[in-house]
Amino acid sequence: MEHTAGKPDLRSFTYEELEAFLIEMGEKRFRAGQVFAWLSKGAQSFDEMTNLSKPLREKLAQTSMLSRAHIAEKYVSKIDGTVKYLIEFDDGECVETVVMRYHHGVTVCISSQVGCAMGCGFCASTIGGKKRDLLAGEILLQVILAQDDIGERISNIVMMGIGEPLDNFENVRRFLINVNDARGLNIGYRHISLSTCGLVDGIDRLAQMDIPITLSISLHAPNDEIRGRTMPVNRRYPIRELLAACRRYQAVTTRRISFEYAMIDGVNDSAADAAELARLLKGILCHVNLIPVNTVAERSYRRSSTAALKRFISVLEEAGIPATVRRTLGADISASCGQLRQKRL
Ligand code: SAH
Repeated sequence: MEHTAGKPDLRSFTYEELEAFLIEMGEKRFRAGQVFAWLSKGAQSFDEMTNLSKPLREKLAQTSMLSRAHIAEKYVSKIDGTVKYLIEFDDGECVETVVMRYHHGVTVCISSQVGCAMGCGFCASTIGGKKRDLLAGEILLQVILAQDDIGERISNIVMMGIGEPLDNFENVRRFLINVNDARGLNIGYRHISLSTCGLVDGIDRLAQMDIPITLSISLHAPNDEIRGRTMPVNRRYPIRELLAACRRYQAVTTRRISFEYAMIDGVNDSAADAAELARLLKGILCHVNLIPVNTVAERSYRRSSTAALKRFISVLEEAGIPATVRRTLGADISASCGQLRQKRL
């Protein structure tokens, strides 16, 4: 459990932990339901919890804290209505949160860390490294703030914003449990995707949770030589180990795995690369998401041509591997994959 100034964040407790915490204080079990409801509604102070007695609110304030966040900036895409928020936490650190509208509902893309330590060569989030992990409550607040702001229920969550979720495992685990809790936001695990650059130990821990979320793997290359050029994590966990972990994950959860593949001109987008990728993924129930690499000012990668994308897809499909090109949303507000950054703009 993370503590700030020695006090635990109430919003980062699971329901059962909250119950135990309150009972230990001498409170009745049902109080947990009241407090959990306030926390899931985004209460930012104990005084808002008007159905609790004043002495209990004071006791809570003495023994715990509340993760807090607000929308510091908001940008709306004129192209497709995608909304990007700069969310600021109590210590002044910021992350970005993006709301996208698809025909099947409203999706929020949330961040798990301030900055990122993974160092992928094409990504803006990692420039400047990792500042800190987000608390479970701070991850949850992104969903709550976005939902309140748009005034519509958020139906899907993708953990594809700033940060590497499996590098912040314990907080992400609590967040997943809490956002899914029927007494809280009640978002089904099947409507949640978690994307990782490939931390094998984290994938195994996630498999142990045995929850039916969608696992997305940022693969981006068909072999270690190419992957090693852009993704330092590949030195720690080469592709063979990563795919073995994916197979273990699939054996436990029976879920289709999604592989993300940023198409970079001249780096990983040839027909031979596609054929090699198809061989690699053989036998894994999966889907390949091709993302024409997004431009990041500090990076010199160019996106693949439409012809290269088509060729790549047709090679995969001939090999029986379903693949689609991810739609680019929020292009005018730098809200696309890999363009999010921790700094204020
Ligand atoms: N750390 C996690 C979560 C980030 S998700 C992960 O690596 O999966 C963001 C997705 O966008 C990842 O697949 C990431 O590799 C990809 N990405 C990063 N920079 C990009 C860029 N410039 N263009 C396209 N995709 C990019």
